Amino acid sequence: MPTLRFHAIKESLAHKPIIIEESKKRSEIFGENVFNENTMRQYLTKDAFVGVMNAVQHGTKINRNIADQVSASMKDWALSKGVTHYTHWFQPLTGTTAEKHDAFFETVSGGMAIEKFDGGQLVQQEPDASSFPSGGIRNTFEARGYTAWDPTSPAFIYGSTLCIPTIFVAYTGEALDYKTPLLRALHAVDDAATAVCRYFDKNVKKVSSSLGWEQEYFLVDKMLAASRPDIILTGRTLLGHSSAKGQQLDDHYFGAIPNRALNFMRDLEHECMLLGIPAKTRHNEVAPNQFELAPIYEEANLAVDHNSLLMDVIGRVASRHNFKVLLHEKPFAGINGSGKHNNWSLSTDTGVNLLAPGKTPMSSLQFLTFFINTIKAVHTHEELLRASVATASNDHRLGANEAPPAIISVFIGEQLTKVLEELEGVTKGKLSPQEKTELKLNVVGKIPDVLLDNTDRNRTSPFAFTGNKFEFRAVGSTANSGNPMTILNTIVAKQLKDFKVEVDKLIDEKGLKKDEAVFNILREYIKSCKPILFDGNGYGEVWEKEAKKRGLSNNKSTPEALKAKISKQTIDLFEEMNVMSKIEVEARYEIEIEAYIKHIQIEGRVLGDIARNHIVPTAVKYQNILVENVKGLKEIFDEDFKSISKEQISLIEEISNHIKGINTNVTKLIDERKKANKIEDIEKRASAYCDQVKPLFDDIRYHCDKLELMVDDEIWPLTKYRELLFTR
Ligand code: ADP
Ligand code: MG
Repeated sequence: MPTLRFHAIKESLAHKPIIIEESKKRSEIFGENVFNENTMRQYLTKDAFVGVMNAVQHGTKINRNIADQVSASMKDWALSKGVTHYTHWFQPLTGTTAEKHDAFFETVSGGMAIEKFDGGQLVQQEPDASSFPSGGIRNTFEARGYTAWDPTSPAFIYGSTLCIPTIFVAYTGEALDYKTPLLRALHAVDDAATAVCRYFDKNVKKVSSSLGWEQEYFLVDKMLAASRPDIILTGRTLLGHSSAKGQQLDDHYFGAIPNRALNFMRDLEHECMLLGIPAKTRHNEVAPNQFELAPIYEEANLAVDHNSLLMDVIGRVASRHNFKVLLHEKPFAGINGSGKHNNWSLSTDTGVNLLAPGKTPMSSLQFLTFFINTIKAVHTHEELLRASVATASNDHRLGANEAPPAIISVFIGEQLTKVLEELEGVTKGKLSPQEKTELKLNVVGKIPDVLLDNTDRNRTSPFAFTGNKFEFRAVGSTANSGNPMTILNTIVAKQLKDFKVEVDKLIDEKGLKKDEAVFNILREYIKSCKPILFDGNGYGEVWEKEAKKRGLSNNKSTPEALKAKISKQTIDLFEEMNVMSKIEVEARYEIEIEAYIKHIQIEGRVLGDIARNHIVPTAVKYQNILVENVKGLKEIFDEDFKSISKEQISLIEEISNHIKGINTNVTKLIDERKKANKIEDIEKRASAYCDQVKPLFDDIRYHCDKLELMVDDEIWPLTKYRELLFTR
């Protein structure tokens, strides 16, 4: 009997819900472990408080004197909570978070010791950065990188460590993380959007980008997960026949949350509250054992930090409840994968959501301006936006038939489509007073009412307008949202910047009034970006054909998709908007393409190992049992032997065929990998992994899964889908 599988099942059945009592109201504990505005007011001198707030709100620099005061207060606050260590907390391009803990403790003369944390230690650190991916930016003689404090994201305590959110850059200044370009992109969109807002309201001084992410994940019993080498090493199942019951009955979605999972969620939400992550929604997702957590949206940089933190915390909390969290985009074949919808909007320091229609015609015109410019930006840069979510694991989702397609399109709904159609008919140049009134009252002015019943939501669209925000649904569940958010905010910034230039030109050169000029430019945009608008079924083949006609890209694999990240258009864009230099863009491309190769390489090795060393020996063992059986039958039945042992003999043959199928394909897999590894050119190597290596996974899996259906359950070594997905 395969001890590990049955041992794991036995253990998992003994796992009972770990009851979580909530003694305090969530509002009371929210942000308890965060050095937030409230805490700063208590701990900081007035000067220091003003210094930090200015840095947060206006990006002013914090001088050393203020930094010293802040660090001293942070230390006092942390020590009062039993904290012993501090760390700069950052998001290198590995996709996870990084930290290196230092104790506050320091020795002084006379055999004594003190707790020390000064401004220098707060502001900048030099971690040994040589093992983080840099895409060739740091050659070994200049291997230094440093982390620098990001005061716009408050420090927090996790466990016994004070964590200080930082950027991570090379000694020469190039970004080595997700946060640095994001901050630059947010700055760019602030500048561009503020300038456009001032057509409508001179009081606007700042525009912030908001992000509300929705994190999907699977929960699997910890013991069961540990019994699967593929889950441990790759985060997903590389083989396994589908369970008789999957998601056909749709009985999991929004159903009652199983008790064990519910207690885990309460514990997780409790941690979120302490850390200031405003967790709001929890529910069952479509697939069995699939769930979602969504917070209230926040300023984009903070939201990205909170999501990165959550992806770390969720695993630790799950472990306490004997679960393993699978954040992978496609942990199980045949049932839904996981995404991370990125809900995005822009809002002003005067409190206006620029993607929500206002109450007056003028504010609705402002809404339309931002709405149409966003659509235009997505149209111009659709391929780059697709590239922003390209990873080996997300390839399983995009283009597969249960997730957004690899084609980027925008859904705006019937009502807004009508509004755009009417605007398309606006007269060129100056407008008559009647036309202006008509437009303002009956087209633009009616938008708020229109939106109230804009409820038909197209779940198949990768980029959908949902009332007061756009929802970018193609983002994968493992993604660091900093990547897509950097790109989305940059393309919108560029678009708004161009828009401003065009409108100003009409005003200055053609003598048009401001609103006339805005209407004129928007009309042209509506005409030109029509191909990106699509309200139909995004999963269908019809759309693939139609999209091709419209000139939209359909890059199904990561190596194909990533190319847009180093096109001339992209490099020009990032350089113009001061988000990334050519060197940074190219380095990131290299890192991402290399990550792709490594992912497929690791999966290939694991699959080869499981198929050859777990499945084949089991199949042989079972085949031997059958052989013995046939031999025995032959001894007993002389005459009728052939007909009596017919089924067994054909099973023996079938098993042999599958064993052969596995062995030849694993050999092929190893050969193709070797060939691919010899390819110098990294792009060509990635293509080889994509086109030659990866397709063999399916062939190997096919034979293994067939064997799973034949071999005696008692000796099958791998925990099965039904056990992974339905053991609670
Ligand atoms: P769903 O898309 O699952 O139906 P909602 O539309 O209620 O759910 O919201 C999903 C996410 O969108 C939440 O994280 C929410 O905070 C966020 N959200 C709501 N309004 C905005 C906004 N104006 N900007 C950004 N995110 C928002
Ligand atoms: Mg959702």
